Amino acid sequence: MIRLLIVDDAPFIRELVQLNVRDQGISVVAEAEDGAEALMFARTLQPDVILMDLVMPKMNGIEATEAILAEYPQTRVIAFSTADHESIVARAIQAGCCDFLSKPFTSEDLVKAIQRAMADRRESKEA
Ligand SMILES: [Mg+2]
Repeated sequence: MIRLLIVDDAPFIRELVQLNVRDQGISVVAEAEDGAEALMFARTLQPDVILMDLVMPKMNGIEATEAILAEYPQTRVIAFSTADHESIVARAIQAGCCDFLSKPFTSEDLVKAIQRAMADRRESKEA
Protein backbone atom coordinates (compact mmCIF):
# COMPACT_ATOMS: atom_id res chain seq x y z
CA MET A 1 0.00 0.00 0.00
CA ILE A 2 1.25 3.45 -0.92
CA ARG A 3 0.61 5.83 1.98
CA LEU A 4 -0.67 9.10 0.52
CA LEU A 5 -1.26 12.50 2.12
CA ILE A 6 -3.70 14.73 0.20
CA VAL A 7 -3.12 18.47 0.57
CA ASP A 8 -5.61 20.94 -0.93
CA ASP A 9 -7.61 23.83 0.46
CA ALA A 10 -10.67 22.85 -1.61
CA PRO A 11 -12.71 20.10 0.08
CA PHE A 12 -14.26 18.92 -3.22
CA ILE A 13 -10.81 18.41 -4.76
CA ARG A 14 -9.74 16.33 -1.76
CA GLU A 15 -12.92 14.28 -2.12
CA LEU A 16 -12.32 13.81 -5.86
CA VAL A 17 -8.79 12.55 -5.19
CA GLN A 18 -10.12 10.17 -2.51
CA LEU A 19 -12.65 8.71 -4.97
CA ASN A 20 -10.05 8.29 -7.70
CA VAL A 21 -7.41 6.48 -5.65
CA ARG A 22 -9.86 3.99 -4.17
CA ASP A 23 -8.96 0.33 -4.87
CA GLN A 24 -5.65 1.29 -6.47
CA GLY A 25 -3.25 0.09 -3.78
CA ILE A 26 -3.20 3.59 -2.32
CA SER A 27 -4.11 4.32 1.28
CA VAL A 28 -4.97 7.93 2.13
CA VAL A 29 -3.42 8.55 5.56
CA ALA A 30 -4.89 12.06 5.96
CA GLU A 31 -6.18 15.18 4.23
CA ALA A 32 -4.64 18.59 4.95
CA GLU A 33 -6.23 21.91 3.99
CA ASP A 34 -3.12 24.11 4.12
CA GLY A 35 0.65 23.86 4.21
CA ALA A 36 0.92 24.10 7.98
CA GLU A 37 -1.41 21.13 8.39
CA ALA A 38 0.55 19.27 5.71
CA LEU A 39 3.77 19.75 7.68
CA MET A 40 2.06 18.54 10.85
CA PHE A 41 0.77 15.38 9.15
CA ALA A 42 4.13 14.79 7.45
CA ARG A 43 5.73 14.77 10.91
CA THR A 44 3.13 12.60 12.61
CA LEU A 45 2.25 10.15 9.82
CA GLN A 46 5.32 10.19 7.54
CA PRO A 47 3.47 9.46 4.28
CA ASP A 48 5.32 7.93 1.31
CA VAL A 49 3.86 10.36 -1.21
CA ILE A 50 2.23 13.79 -0.83
CA LEU A 51 -0.12 15.32 -3.38
CA MET A 52 0.53 19.01 -2.74
CA ASP A 53 -1.72 21.85 -3.88
CA LEU A 54 0.43 24.92 -4.49
CA VAL A 55 -1.97 27.79 -3.88
CA MET A 56 -3.29 27.67 -0.31
CA PRO A 57 -3.75 30.00 2.65
CA LYS A 58 -1.43 30.09 5.73
CA MET A 59 1.52 28.18 4.29
CA ASN A 60 1.51 27.60 0.51
CA GLY A 61 2.57 24.39 -1.20
CA ILE A 62 6.05 25.63 -2.07
CA GLU A 63 6.88 26.57 1.52
CA ALA A 64 5.36 23.36 2.84
CA THR A 65 7.32 21.24 0.35
CA GLU A 66 10.60 22.90 1.34
CA ALA A 67 9.87 22.44 5.04
CA ILE A 68 8.82 18.81 4.66
CA LEU A 69 11.72 17.78 2.40
CA ALA A 70 14.22 19.44 4.75
CA GLU A 71 13.07 17.01 7.44
CA TYR A 72 12.05 14.00 5.34
CA PRO A 73 14.04 14.01 2.08
CA GLN A 74 12.79 10.51 1.22
CA THR A 75 9.19 11.76 0.92
CA ARG A 76 8.00 12.24 -2.66
CA VAL A 77 5.96 15.40 -3.25
CA ILE A 78 3.81 15.81 -6.36
CA ALA A 79 2.93 19.44 -7.12
CA PHE A 80 -0.77 19.76 -7.84
CA SER A 81 -2.06 22.91 -9.51
CA THR A 82 -3.66 24.41 -12.59
CA ALA A 83 -1.42 24.10 -15.65
CA ASP A 84 -1.38 27.80 -16.49
CA HIS A 85 0.79 28.75 -13.50
CA GLU A 86 4.08 28.18 -15.29
CA SER A 87 6.29 30.12 -12.91
CA ILE A 88 4.85 28.30 -9.92
CA VAL A 89 5.53 24.95 -11.58
CA ALA A 90 9.18 25.91 -11.97
CA ARG A 91 9.27 26.99 -8.32
CA ALA A 92 7.71 23.68 -7.27
CA ILE A 93 10.37 21.66 -9.07
CA GLN A 94 13.02 23.95 -7.56
CA ALA A 95 11.54 23.29 -4.13
CA GLY A 96 12.06 19.57 -4.69
CA CYS A 97 8.75 18.29 -6.06
CA CYS A 98 9.33 15.13 -8.10
CA ASP A 99 6.43 15.67 -10.48
CA PHE A 100 3.60 17.96 -11.45
CA LEU A 101 -0.06 17.01 -11.84
CA SER A 102 -2.31 19.63 -13.38
CA LYS A 103 -5.92 20.30 -12.45
CA PRO A 104 -8.32 19.18 -13.74
CA PHE A 105 -6.86 15.67 -13.67
CA THR A 106 -7.84 12.25 -14.99
CA SER A 107 -8.04 9.25 -12.72
CA GLU A 108 -5.32 7.53 -14.75
CA ASP A 109 -2.91 10.48 -14.60
CA LEU A 110 -3.43 10.79 -10.85
CA VAL A 111 -2.80 7.11 -10.07
CA LYS A 112 0.17 6.92 -12.45
CA ALA A 113 1.81 10.00 -10.91
CA ILE A 114 1.46 8.50 -7.44
CA GLN A 115 2.83 5.13 -8.58
CA ARG A 116 5.78 6.82 -10.34
CA ALA A 117 6.57 8.84 -7.24
CA MET A 118 6.54 5.68 -5.13
CA ALA A 119 8.78 3.82 -7.59
CA ASP A 120 11.21 6.75 -7.49
CA ARG A 121 11.21 6.67 -3.69
CA ARG A 122 11.92 2.92 -3.65
CA GLU A 123 14.75 3.28 -6.19
CA SER A 124 16.48 6.03 -4.25
CA LYS A 125 16.24 3.95 -1.07
CA GLU A 126 17.96 1.01 -2.74
CA ALA A 127 20.71 3.15 -4.27
MG1 LIG B 1 -5.66 25.78 -3.70
